[in-house]
Amino acid sequence: MSTMLMTVDVEEWFQVENLRPVFPPHTWDGCESRVEGSTYLLLDLFDEYHVVATFFVLGWVAERHPGLVREIHERGHEVASHGYGHMLSGELNRSMLKEDLYRSKAILEDIHGEPVQGYRAPNFSINAELVDLLVESGYVYDSSYNSFAAHGRYGRLEGTWTPLQSGFMIAGNGLIEIPISNLTLGRSVIPWGGGGYFRLYPSHLFNLGVRSIIKSRGYYLFYCHPWEFDPDQPRVKGMGLGRRFRHYNNLAKTSARLSGLLDAVGKGHRFATCKKYIGIQDAINI
Ligand SMILES: [Zn+2]
Repeated sequence: MSTMLMTVDVEEWFQVENLRPVFPPHTWDGCESRVEGSTYLLLDLFDEYHVVATFFVLGWVAERHPGLVREIHERGHEVASHGYGHMLSGELNRSMLKEDLYRSKAILEDIHGEPVQGYRAPNFSINAELVDLLVESGYVYDSSYNSFAAHGRYGRLEGTWTPLQSGFMIAGNGLIEIPISNLTLGRSVIPWGGGGYFRLYPSHLFNLGVRSIIKSRGYYLFYCHPWEFDPDQPRVKGMGLGRRFRHYNNLAKTSARLSGLLDAVGKGHRFATCKKYIGIQDAINI
């Protein structure tokens, strides 16, 4: 049976890279927090469809909303790390990056009492140093590689990786990579994993693409953010037109679209957390 891996990057509406020039980190504590409402909306929707998902929670958010982390865990989902301060990997030196990885892991583990095994880099900014440090910091898997590298801020996979049958890869140091799902047409890679693309494409087309990915790969990994389900978030001026469109496009429809995806594609597939799915793959020797 094929598997849907639903993932959520839990961060505030003002922490996304597009808004960094307007909201540098020292302003965050003065911004209106909206992450709880939109994360609860997702949790309720997942309950309705019996979805178990993986939540990559930002350490900064977890510190301020420990109850939300416990709720995610108590509803049967996996708590994983999105780092602490949402800085792109390439912007931090080695010791700062290591500190960010350790700090977020420790905060999340203290709150819900389970080992945190998974990590997703802000803006999929994976690089060789990150792969090293993740293993040093005790992570088992990463889910930051997006093969749609045309997007300038996405990272590239450096070093030696062994592809596994499942579409996963394993690094020389043992780190497992669960890539974001994309659609391959001939030699082209079309972004199909979620986020802004999920809000942009017509739902019917998106759902067809997901079916096709599941058929060829045996699994599909979807990602989204709570702020994408919050049409009432403050609108911010001062970003370019393209970014503005990508950021605010179709926010009022995201929730209905996700229900539509789960209705159209969810049935007949099992849902798994990333941690559990790696275990299943291990058991059948990948
Ligand atoms: Zn993020």
